[in-house]
Amino acid sequence: MVSFLKKIEDYVLAILLASLLGYHLIPYHNVTSEVQPYVQEFQVKMWDKCTPEQIRPTWQVSVMVVDDVSHFNKETVGVCHYRLLGFDVTLRRDFWEYLDDVGKQQLIYHELLHCYLNVEHENGTIMDAYHIAFTKEHMEKQLDYFLDKVCPK
Ligand SMILES: [Zn+2]
Repeated sequence: MVSFLKKIEDYVLAILLASLLGYHLIPYHNVTSEVQPYVQEFQVKMWDKCTPEQIRPTWQVSVMVVDDVSHFNKETVGVCHYRLLGFDVTLRRDFWEYLDDVGKQQLIYHELLHCYLNVEHENGTIMDAYHIAFTKEHMEKQLDYFLDKVCPK
């Protein structure tokens, strides 16, 4: 009993210390319903092609569209922040509303390739630093191309 209490005490201390240091150790999956179908589509493809070792640790995943765009650069439409245990993707509302279905899918794929698989920008692809409109068919090929590249058989 004493050692059990000691373990709880250690756990509480670890959480307190971690939060003082700015780490949040509690896992969460915060994906809003408007982005969820695109995120899920990406995950299914990624889990099909990649092993867990090829995917970055993601205890904490947040993907959301935000109304407050004051912290975005003028040209930035989405951002991936990868942290120690996971990532936050934030997308600006005004651009999101302007995109059609394929454009939304493309933007999510772009950010998730950054976040889950550490893919860098590549000109003329869905990983271009600027958003280029692709057709649905073209975009699916692009996703396959990047998944094959970072998760070779
Ligand atoms: Zn990017």
